[in-house]
Amino acid sequence: MNKNISVAFIGLGKMGFPMAMSLLRAKIEVHVYDIAAADNIKLAQEAGAINEANLEKLARSAPFIISMLPNGEVLRDILFGPTNLQSFIQPGSILVDMSTSNPKHTQLTCAELASHNILMIDAPVMGGVAFAKDASLDFLVGGDPGLIEKCQPIFNAIGRSVTHCGPIGSGHALKALTNYINAAAMMNVVEAINIGKTFGMDEQVMAKSLIDTCTGRNHPIVKKVIPKILTGTYDSGMVISLLEKDLTIAADIARETQSEHPLLDGDLEILSTMVKRLGPNVDQTEVAKFWRK
Ligand code: NAD
Repeated sequence: MNKNISVAFIGLGKMGFPMAMSLLRAKIEVHVYDIAAADNIKLAQEAGAINEANLEKLARSAPFIISMLPNGEVLRDILFGPTNLQSFIQPGSILVDMSTSNPKHTQLTCAELASHNILMIDAPVMGGVAFAKDASLDFLVGGDPGLIEKCQPIFNAIGRSVTHCGPIGSGHALKALTNYINAAAMMNVVEAINIGKTFGMDEQVMAKSLIDTCTGRNHPIVKKVIPKILTGTYDSGMVISLLEKDLTIAADIARETQSEHPLLDGDLEILSTMVKRLGPNVDQTEVAKFWRK
């Protein structure tokens, strides 16, 4: 066990669990906490993680704290709400928020923690559960370069690349904008294939043509439409409401920066209608069912 690096990990869900497992494989000491996710906690313990009974014990267990939570509001509630995690974190510790959070929450949280001498960077990840399992996530990081450097062994254990996007909140801003492009491309491809199918063409033929010709190849068609939608497995590992959250953050950034965003508004409206009809907890790839019903 690498006693030089010790990490406290909050949020052992679909992404957090495989990420914590990658840290363990890199011989990093990992302390874990989740309000639910009992099965994942048990599996992580069997692999060598230390399960902390409460946030106070977790905060005192390690100088690096990683959060992989539903969003930045949940993180703020844990830090400053009734559980008051902030009061137990040792001064000089570094909080790394790997969740996909709204950058305005991140900037606020960072400023409030700084007044208690607690440091923070944002490091959301690109890539889903499959990438988390094989430690090939890409980090989009915002914050002080010196802090990012200190966290490099953690990034090396979980991912394959680190992009320093700018000051605190920049990683979260770019993550939301990138996922807007991801969502738009996935919906665009599915809509086009459905129109072609209604015209009478074979969806596999169309998918192959989109890969082979100049207009079609993109990450969503290669990683989601062909392997998860056309096969009918719908198991990318990310629920649709998380994608809606990301587009909502992107639209929020656009409004606050007074940037034109008519396409984003349109895509968000369509996605929100899908979430209402399909329910928040279906896989994101089930957007295809919106057209198929
Ligand atoms: P998830 O719902 O599976 O995991 C979130 C975990 O946080 C759960 O285990 C939950 O019990 C825990 N949690 C919630 N509130 C808590 C609290 N107050 N205290 C302790 N634990 C708490 O979600 P996920 O799919 O793992 O996504 C996590 C984050 O990663 C999200 O911000 C998401 O947008 C982002 N993300 C997800 C994917 C994906 O493919 N699933 C990909 C990239 C980024």
